[in-house]
Amino acid sequence: MTIQWFPGHMAKARRQVTEQLKLIDVVIELVDARLPASSRNPMIDEIIAHKPRLVVLNKADMADERLTRKWIAYFEQKGFKAISINAQAGQGMKEITAACKELVKEKFDRMIAKGVNPRAVRALIVGIPNVGKSTLINKIAKKNIAKTGDRPGVTTAQQWIKVGKELELLDTPGILWPKFEDELVGLRLATSGAIKDAILNLQDVAVYALRFLSAHYPEKLKERYNLTHLSEDIVELFDDIGKRRGCLLSGGIIDYDKTAEIVLRELRAGKLGRITFEEPNEYAEIEA
Ligand code: GDP
Repeated sequence: MTIQWFPGHMAKARRQVTEQLKLIDVVIELVDARLPASSRNPMIDEIIAHKPRLVVLNKADMADERLTRKWIAYFEQKGFKAISINAQAGQGMKEITAACKELVKEKFDRMIAKGVNPRAVRALIVGIPNVGKSTLINKIAKKNIAKTGDRPGVTTAQQWIKVGKELELLDTPGILWPKFEDELVGLRLATSGAIKDAILNLQDVAVYALRFLSAHYPEKLKERYNLTHLSEDIVELFDDIGKRRGCLLSGGIIDYDKTAEIVLRELRAGKLGRITFEEPNEYAEIEA
């Protein structure tokens, strides 16, 4: 479900997360490993403030491993702990518990020194829609407690999911909004499938995706569409791919909507291989 983020919804989402923060020791900030900057909430540092944070790059199965390593180093350099996982396959679950424990170690050691009995670490998962929060919660809970999809404004009683003896997770994730005022962020989110196709023009998104792939993953693009040469002219590139896939209207004209849809569908399904849309260096430049 795509959320319409109006100012009122954003304020409410923020209030809900702020309330949830009072209950927990550690924040697990979930991002999409293919776009670890664009899939973050722009006010996250302000909202989370002083809670220890684990940045979890999810969907690592679809991302470029070389860049995932760079992104982990980037987040660690910013002072967070960072790991990559594949929530769908349940890979990286143990690392989450270990990292959460490490983040509270000093605090818990102090509590134990004061004679307080050790307890499980309490954590909250936060992230923008579609980064895999429900998938991760379901996987951790090993049963269908969390519903896949987003329901902002639906307040349900908070429940804890016990992960062994050492971790307790709030069953409702904190849902925050993406940085949609930035066009490039919007295009990257749309390319990854995080934004409903009806919101942005399909052909615009495919133009972005094809230009990006031509520049950064030309071999993958050529291989997928059996092309010997990638035309620099975007219309010609559409024509070449459209022809290969039989996207023709009457009179032999290329059906650009259909071509755009095929490229995006296949890209999102991982048919072009592991692809990451942004690099830490480039993002640091945007931030500066
Ligand atoms: P939420 O809105 O953050 O709760 O996201 P969901 O849990 O609903 O996941 C959004 C989509 O991403 C779903 O289609 C999931 O199947 C998919 N997904 C979640 N985690 C992974 C992952 O690690 N790898 C892949 N390939 N897909 C994932």
